[in-house]
Amino acid sequence: MAIGWVARRFLTAALSVLILFFFTARAVNARAREAAVEPSPPPTVVLDAGHGGVDGGAKGVNGALEKDLNLSVVLLLADLFREAGVEVVLTRSDDSLPITEEQDRSGHRKRWDVNNRIAFTRLYPDALFVSIHMNWFPVEKYSGLQVWYAKTRGSRELAEAIRRRVVADLQPDNKRQSKQADGSIRLLDSAASTAVLVECGFLSNAAECEKISSPAYQRELSFSIFCGIMETIKGNGGAGN
Ligand SMILES: [Zn+2]
Repeated sequence: MAIGWVARRFLTAALSVLILFFFTARAVNARAREAAVEPSPPPTVVLDAGHGGVDGGAKGVNGALEKDLNLSVVLLLADLFREAGVEVVLTRSDDSLPITEEQDRSGHRKRWDVNNRIAFTRLYPDALFVSIHMNWFPVEKYSGLQVWYAKTRGSRELAEAIRRRVVADLQPDNKRQSKQADGSIRLLDSAASTAVLVECGFLSNAAECEKISSPAYQRELSFSIFCGIMETIKGNGGAGN
């Protein structure tokens, strides 16, 4: 029996819907499998130990040099991130400035130093750039961590996550708010990626300087900073800034 025109049209349409459904379902399944097997990688963390080499930075009341304390904290942080499977880049990993010999002789050592650190934020635009420093003030009474952030996307959130975690873990009385850097911190002012500068504590305060010089406290502090950064990474679902 010949199939009528209406019936043929109906069959063709039904078949089209079935085929479409089959391929759509396959595509969706494939995408779901991809997402499950290959989650987007966590962003790289660039760790910047302030100062180095001939530039000692601030000098603690106990004689400790900021450049050494910065590097100690950065190396501890680097270990924690590597253990967590997060890729880490260091602007310096020893007692030297991140500049070439030629730049060192140029008479503009400081300018090159800052330029080269800024260059890391251009080289890794999707990374989280974390600069580690120690504070100093002529009046001894001041203490506590202070975080500065760049105007780039995600920087304020990163600063807040670090501040919150350190305050909760180690400094319950610290009321210092995170602040957006003004032009006086060129590193943050010119940063191309998410970027913060952590002033870990005051070397001008005898008690805090002593604490920050101890490896045990450095480990605690590094762990809290690490946790704050990891909260940001997880909060972003690994999408970076
Ligand atoms: Zn410094």
